Amino acid sequence: MKLNELKPGLSAVIEEVGGEGALRQHFLDMGVIPGTEVTVIKLAPMGDPMELRIHGYELTLRLADAEKISVGPADRKTDEQKKKIQRSQEHPGLGEEGRFHPKGTGDPLPDGTTLTFALVGNQNSGKTTLFNQLTGSNQHVGNFPGVTVDRKDGVIRGHSDTLVTDLPGIYSMSPYSSEELVSRDFVLKNHPKAIINIVDATNIERNLYLTMQLLEMNIPMVVALNMMDELRGNGGTVDVNVMEAMLGVPVVPISAAKNEGVDELIRHAIHVAKYQEKPVQQDFCGVEDHGGAVHRALHAVSHLIEDHAKRAELPVRFSASKLIVGDPLLQEQLELDQNESEMLEHLVLQMEKERGMDRAASIADMRFAFIRKVCDASVIRPHESKERIRSEKIDRVLTGRYTAIPFFILIMGAVFYLTFFLIGPCLQDLLQGGIDALSDAARQGMEAVHVNASIQSLVLDGIFEGVGTVVSFLPVIVILFFFLSLLEDSGYVARVAFVMDKLLRRIGLSGRSIVPMLIGFGCTVPAVMSTRTLPSARDRRMTILLTPFMSCTAKMPIYGFFVSAFFPQHGWLIILGLYLLGILTGILVALLFRKTLFKGEAVPFVMELPNYRFPTPRNVAQLLWEKAKDFLHRAFSVILIATIVVWFLKSFDFRLNLVTDSHDSILAAIAGLLAPVMSPVGLGDWRIVTSLISGFMAKESVVSVMQTLFGGGLASLGTLTAVCMLVFSLLYTPCVAAIAAIRREMGRKWALGVVFWQCAVAWIAALVVRLIGLLF
Ligand code: GDP
Ligand code: MG
Repeated sequence: MKLNELKPGLSAVIEEVGGEGALRQHFLDMGVIPGTEVTVIKLAPMGDPMELRIHGYELTLRLADAEKISVGPADRKTDEQKKKIQRSQEHPGLGEEGRFHPKGTGDPLPDGTTLTFALVGNQNSGKTTLFNQLTGSNQHVGNFPGVTVDRKDGVIRGHSDTLVTDLPGIYSMSPYSSEELVSRDFVLKNHPKAIINIVDATNIERNLYLTMQLLEMNIPMVVALNMMDELRGNGGTVDVNVMEAMLGVPVVPISAAKNEGVDELIRHAIHVAKYQEKPVQQDFCGVEDHGGAVHRALHAVSHLIEDHAKRAELPVRFSASKLIVGDPLLQEQLELDQNESEMLEHLVLQMEKERGMDRAASIADMRFAFIRKVCDASVIRPHESKERIRSEKIDRVLTGRYTAIPFFILIMGAVFYLTFFLIGPCLQDLLQGGIDALSDAARQGMEAVHVNASIQSLVLDGIFEGVGTVVSFLPVIVILFFFLSLLEDSGYVARVAFVMDKLLRRIGLSGRSIVPMLIGFGCTVPAVMSTRTLPSARDRRMTILLTPFMSCTAKMPIYGFFVSAFFPQHGWLIILGLYLLGILTGILVALLFRKTLFKGEAVPFVMELPNYRFPTPRNVAQLLWEKAKDFLHRAFSVILIATIVVWFLKSFDFRLNLVTDSHDSILAAIAGLLAPVMSPVGLGDWRIVTSLISGFMAKESVVSVMQTLFGGGLASLGTLTAVCMLVFSLLYTPCVAAIAAIRREMGRKWALGVVFWQCAVAWIAALVVRLIGLLF
């Protein structure tokens, strides 16, 4: 039987995992290996994807992918085994000060060496929480070189000679997404002095899989066993001493959220880094396990390639297991000659034959077999946890068949209402008031000392007006991010992706792209920034290019302005129509992209559904601070420069005289040049063109410029022109701030491309509207 045929509520044992390449490896890395029990929990409201329970955690899988997995009847024995280990055992308590693992006295690194740490762990294991605890405020955010994946570095508080890097959450060292590649490269190439591996104790089997791979890197390491508060609260515990002895590295139980055990973790981490205490063992393949087939192959390959690995400066055991699985990146780096390659292939074939499983599954199975041994010996599993039960209850509503979509609309509606109508505008008015007061003070100050008129105009009309308007959006953006981070950290966003996956697949994306699109209705800038959570570069780019079609709030003033002048009766219908037109255009563009720029499929939707958890206030505060800093930084760099340029163009004529009437300015001249281009769509009036150009700065300014240029004469434009103008404003190039965000994610070429591409789309759409209009 295939997994996709299994009915919700039923369990089965995996017999074979089909598929190929990276996707299959990803399945195996997530614990989908032959011999493991799976339970189908439910199907998404639209019937696809499905939610599974495996190794004690929840996983999503599309039906098409589940079809590649064969299952057989479940083995009843597992339940009894579970009961057997529920014996009571004394907990060693938080912190044992390293009494249970040998401490080297060898030669420490010289004083003054910066101890660099890589913080590695699964997604949602509490990395960010721990990172914030470790570093306090001593951190800075940037990108990894060459890729736009957030990079956070920080100094451990109280230890100025340290540097911790928070790596993207990963499940395995096989590069499946760009994040995983970043993490793997960081560990391999940056040579951190030690690894802090954070393990979610409530989900220990799946988390230890990564630990096993990290041990193979032969880098000093400590395991931070996080979420101990939750595990113990549910009657479970971990015998840390036994686990330490079996893994051969210090294991420190902590609770990052409650800041318990963190000090001890720091002491251990610094110790292993300083004394370069490598893992005591890396040899986890059982000699007895299925006749030792995997064990013998691994050791044979290790010896075979030892010299190559040393030359390439790669850990031997890591290279050996990667070679057996068939990692092409590594094969290149190791430069095996033909004889050795053939020998390798023979060894692997023999292993496959003896083990009765293919190479990738054999290795994954070997790791999970060891993990099972560790867990049986050291973990006392909790009874069904409170958090799990609570999550199931919440999920019954939030991903329920009939309730999922209504609740989704309700929650998003509430977020938008609160952000854009209730809290945001109040704060925005306050801030705008402050900026105005500042601007007034500046005016008086400059008048008092008789500053040159053109400089005055630059400061007041350029900087205070332009940058001030953008800065006044800060509260809205921060509040939007506040709600979104609540949704994200609580685990709801993963559910939205689960519910919406089927819809988004139709346009070539996966469920995860829904979030940036939704934010796009608020503001394209945070929307573009939020695409970083997407697992593949293809999906990320495609999503970025689609978000500008979701009508952002800055366009509301334009709609309001025209609607009240031309359609006072049916205003809301027109506005609703515009929103729908934006979505429709986005869908059409997505379909077009799918056939041209972004061929291929969206990434498979293999995603963990974490328990619902409350984010810590500290995490939220830290995130908001980062976003605010980021936004202000942009406002005062790109936007400031652009504002000055436009101010210059609109204030001077070609002889560089300050103009009194903007009709004579350089901007008007440029607008005049563009007018013929805009005439076919009925927007050839230089005043309209000027306002559209200024809308490139910030969409709101379309209205203010039109106001000054037209005065009361707007009605002379005619209804059809008004409609064309609305459609054009909806679709044409995003504002400078959004373009700057796109540039940061995708580079200059793409950003420029977006400007021209969207103008073209807007032009065509406006033309179609005008032609239809002329028929009547
Ligand atoms: P990351 O994805 O690895 O960066 O994980 P986060 O740091 O964002 O944490 C995921 C969730 O787990 C958040 O809601 C945290 O508040 C929560 N969390 C983190 N550490 C602990 C802990 O020690 N105990 C409990 N109960 N929750 C925690
Ligand atoms: Mg995080």
